[in-house]
Amino acid sequence: MDTKRLKVRTRTSKRIAVINLIQMHPAIPRLLDLQGIDQHIAALRAEIEAFPKRVQEADHKLAGARNAVAAAREAHTHSLTERKKFELDVQQWKDRAKKYREQSGAVKTNEAYKALQHEIANAEAEVAKAEDRQLEIMMGAEDSDRRVKNAESALKSAEQTIAAERKEMHTQYAEKKKELDTALADRERAIAPIPEDLRVLYERVAKRHNGVALAEARDGQCRGCGMRVLPHILQQLLQDANDELFRCESCGLILYSLEPIPAANPDAASGSAASSASSSS
Ligand SMILES: [Zn+2]
Repeated sequence: MDTKRLKVRTRTSKRIAVINLIQMHPAIPRLLDLQGIDQHIAALRAEIEAFPKRVQEADHKLAGARNAVAAAREAHTHSLTERKKFELDVQQWKDRAKKYREQSGAVKTNEAYKALQHEIANAEAEVAKAEDRQLEIMMGAEDSDRRVKNAESALKSAEQTIAAERKEMHTQYAEKKKELDTALADRERAIAPIPEDLRVLYERVAKRHNGVALAEARDGQCRGCGMRVLPHILQQLLQDANDELFRCESCGLILYSLEPIPAANPDAASGSAASSASSSS
């Protein structure tokens, strides 16, 4: 099995405050710092990339409200047209009934008179029907008029809400951009003291593990994957004189430890997931 340890030059410069008291490879605190900054940068970039979609969603909502107004207006216009049509119907049937009544005074035969009476009754029935429909439509027109007003007021409030949302999004966007610039500057500072070979290693591992390059070794396990780490590796993780970094043999993450490790148990050495590391320095 290929050994995943990596030899690096030990630097005896200052280390980051919190984990100062724990002995470890001097690059570990710097890499942890870099990893934290990189994760922050990734989160900011994701937020920034999501802005156009958020703006689009807001525009979509507005378009929906506008369409609702257009549809309500169209329905209202339609009901007015229908109303006019039945008004016309009522008038036509009334005219016809009137005409038959006028004719009925001039008829000579009983049959012709009866026939006209029948036509008059029929025309009057049609008048009543058309008036009923007209009334229905007038009531419907009140509804459709109310729907237009509701849709218009919904559009107005959507316009106000979305204008405010867009303004807020622009502010947030500018803030996130600024935050990103700061984080990128932080990254420059954090990466400066890290040796080139470790930068390359870090980038490679982080790329493969979705932005995570380091894993804590705790309770004898790699916290990245849960596999065992050899006791003698755990002990080496706690030595700052150590010039090697150790990677989990199972998941490949760079290991570090924040806890004192009890004396190694030689019987437990088999079946470990961590790479062996017989130091040659
Ligand atoms: Zn692991």
